[in-house]
Order: sequence, then structure tokens, then C-alpha cells
Amino acid sequence: AGVEAIKMDDTPRAKSKNLNVLAEFEKAKAKNAANFVVIGHVDAGKSTLMGRLLYDLKVVDQRTVDRYRKEAEKMGKSSFALAWVLDQGSEERARGVTIDIAMNKFETEKTSFTILDAPGHRDFIPNMIAGASQADFAVLVIDASTGSFESGLKGQTKEHALLVRSMGVQRLIIAVNKLDTVAWSEERFREISTQVSAFLTAAGFQSRNIAFIPCSGLQGDNITRKSTEPAALWYKGPTLVEELDNSQPASRALSKPLRLSVGDIFRGGVQNPLSVSGRIESGSLQMGDALLAQPSSQKCYIKSVELDNEPADWAVAGQNVTVHLSGIEEQYLKVGDVLCSPSSPIKNISRFTAKVLAFEFVTPMQIDIHRGRLHTPGRIIEIVAVLDKHTGAPVGKKKPRVVKPGLVARVVVELDTAVPLEAPSRVVLRSGGETIAAGLLE
Ligand code: GDP
Repeated sequence: AGVEAIKMDDTPRAKSKNLNVLAEFEKAKAKNAANFVVIGHVDAGKSTLMGRLLYDLKVVDQRTVDRYRKEAEKMGKSSFALAWVLDQGSEERARGVTIDIAMNKFETEKTSFTILDAPGHRDFIPNMIAGASQADFAVLVIDASTGSFESGLKGQTKEHALLVRSMGVQRLIIAVNKLDTVAWSEERFREISTQVSAFLTAAGFQSRNIAFIPCSGLQGDNITRKSTEPAALWYKGPTLVEELDNSQPASRALSKPLRLSVGDIFRGGVQNPLSVSGRIESGSLQMGDALLAQPSSQKCYIKSVELDNEPADWAVAGQNVTVHLSGIEEQYLKVGDVLCSPSSPIKNISRFTAKVLAFEFVTPMQIDIHRGRLHTPGRIIEIVAVLDKHTGAPVGKKKPRVVKPGLVARVVVELDTAVPLEAPSRVVLRSGGETIAAGLLE
């Protein structure tokens, strides 16, 4: 009892194979990994569309869908069966909304995708922020049926698009959904594309980073297979899945210095007393590498590497990896820390400027700062200016005392202790259990 012994794994440093990881990565033609978030107005068909995708790619089997269909019919909501593929808990089914960032994975020939499912209900915006803070791109689902597009634009369509933009998501695929309800009208598709495109480019998306797909999630047209509806034959472009495959994360920084965010820590293994798992944000690693843990600034070594529970020689940006470590005492590592390359380490900082979208009234105040699984207390010490949402230029008077919900502002944040953070990290500012703002470190 009493003081817990500090364990240190002092096995000799694992011998490096000195691999050129980037060359190995090319050779292995390893699949890229990409995360995306699904956004759009409630009832736009997000869950149905993603359920269809998983079903057509055989991630879920016919039996499961049949079971859901039966359950759904009993509740008088038969069309919800596909959506339930994504919604796990029964509470969510009863309410007919997705409330978790359910993690769903699927693979195409080129890419291994994770859907960070975002719910459409207003109350659940905090979940979407969590999803968007990890997303490489977003799929915006729009209900093309008569009247719905227009009310969606007034509703959450624009709000969600601005939100992901403010979190630094640069690429959007727009699923112009439910085109079956308007007899696959090309005119309707064009009208929606033109309007949405105008809005998105004004919001700061580059037109080469947005793509529109006419589809029906319910019937499965242009999701994984080209529509065979005679009325839909005017469309010659890619299916949703083909477009997803074209959406390799632009900033997948394989050749940048290593940054591994620690998502989990496992202690006390017989062979491996200290192991961590997490996502490689940039760079690459291999057995034998020396690492620096931040914020503790302790050096350690990689004994071995695991990918999907299999031993691996190396891992690269975008992958979720487990590394077994030696040479570091466990007190120097915690969830939210960053393992980085000792030659170009991430710095610990205690003050930063960020461009954020306000969800609540923001004033100089105490807050918790979140970046992935890192969270730390601090305060907003200054509001530099409110910014034009579209151009980013300062508007109104300098140093306003308060930022109203829905506005974008540049703020200065001071932290109680220094933590590893660098631009352009996505940060979420919370207070009293609520998200008050989210955006990008500058
Ligand atoms: P979410 O709130 O965005 O997740 O929307 P859901 O996936 O729950 O779908 C809302 C409603 O629209 C359900 O009744 C669906 O069956 C229906 N729906 C979804 N996609 C389509 C589609 O492509 N065509 C038609 N006709 N209805 C759809």
C-alpha cells in the first residue's frame, strides 16, 4: 500500500530496421485511411444513406437488415430500417434520431473509411463538433424533395456547412438526396447545385473541393452503383463511393514530422508494461524509433508496433496504431499527450490565438480547451475582433466585449499549464459542460 512503484521498462532499445517508411508505404500500396462526418438537416436522409452504403458494401448482412425491417414495421416506421444500421441503441431507434458519434468503418479498394456519424437534431450539435474535429472531409446530405431543400437551407444545412468550415474541414461532398421524389429531375439537381455552390464558395470552400452527386439513399441509386432509372441516365458522373475514393485527405502529411496523439494507455502488460494507442496525425514511425512525449518532454523508444492487432514494422499518418514503449516511466504519459519526433518536436504552449465560431455568448471567461482527447483548463483573455464569416476580415469595433452565438471571432486563450498544441489544430472551447465555441488555432 502507499506509494505506487514507478515502473520503467529498461529493455535494450529495439533494433531499428532503418526502413524508408514512405517507400515501404508506396510499395505496400497500403490503403489510405480517411475519416468523414455526415452533416445536413434533420430528415435529409443521412442515416438512410449511410445505412445503404454499409449494406451495399456488405458491411452489414441481409439478416441484420431484415431484422431491423421487421422491428421497424412493428413500430410503424418501416422506412427507418436502413437508418438503424447506423443507430445502435434502442433508445435512439425509438426516437428515430442518431445521437451518438457511432463509429462505422468500411473499405473500398483504395481507402479504409471511418464514418463519424453526425446527427441532424439541433440539440446534438456538440456531437457533430466532436466528429468534425476529427474529420478529413464531410458529406453534406440535402433533401431534394419539393420544399424540403428550401426549408433545409433555412434550417441546418447552412449552419452545419459553416460549422465544419470553421473547424477547418476543406472538402465537401454534397449528396443531393431523395431525387426519386422529384422523378430524377436534372433541372432540380442543377438548381440545388447552383444555389448550394454559391453559398459554399461564399463560405470559403474552394469550388474544386466541392462535388455534387444526385442520389437516392433509400433506393440505392448512385451510392455504390450507377442508377439504372431511365429518368436518371442524364447523370454521367461518379457514384458517392467513387467520389469518396477521390477524396483522399489533402493534408495527409506523410512526410511531415511525427505527431501521434495518445488516445489510450495500457499499463502492466507482462511483455509490454507500457503501450499507447492513437492516431498518427502526421509523419510516420517504425520499431526502434526514439520518441519525445509532450508535455513531459521525456524521451522513449518504440519496442514494437501493432496495426489492427497485428505486428507491423511501421505505420503512417492517418492510421490508428498501438506502440509498445520502453525507456519511459508511466507517470510521464497520459491520454491527450502527443508523441513526436525528438528532432522536430511539438512545442508546449500556454497561450494561443484561434479563429472560432461561437455557439453561445463568448466573453473573456474561464473555459476548458479540447483538442481530440486533450483537454485542459484556461480562459479567454481577449476577443481580438469579430470576423466576417465568409471573408474572415475583421468587422465592427476592435476588442468587442462579447461575441454573439453564430458569429466568428478571433480570440486569445491562455492556459493554466503548457500543453502540446500547434496550428492548425482544431480546438473546441467548452464551459460548464457546454460547447461555447470551436475553430482553428492560428
Ligand atoms: P436523417 O435525420 O437525416 O438521418 O434522415 P433519415 O435517414 O432518418 O431519413 C428521414 C426520412 O427520409 C425517412 O423516412 C427515410 O425513409 C426518408 N428517406 C431517406 N432517404 C430517402 C430517399 O433517398 N428517398 C426517399 N423517397 N426517402 C428517403
